[in-house]
Amino acid sequence: MGTPTSRDFYARDKEEQKAFLETTWCDHCMKADLGMQEPVEYELEGTIFIEGQCLQCGQAVYTELTDDDI
Ligand SMILES: [Zn+2]
Repeated sequence: MGTPTSRDFYARDKEEQKAFLETTWCDHCMKADLGMQEPVEYELEGTIFIEGQCLQCGQAVYTELTDDDI
């Protein structure tokens, strides 16, 4: 495993930020698009992750971006 490289989520444009914050999947709620707060973005092994807290349950939620999405 490599070391995660942090990225600046807030460097993305506003529309993109909004889309990422709204388009989520929560493993705890087993529901899509509940939303997240306090997003942190980082890159690990060529994959970008946006990690935040589910607005519904407060557990960690992750969005994984492959090269196709970037
Ligand atoms: Zn949840």
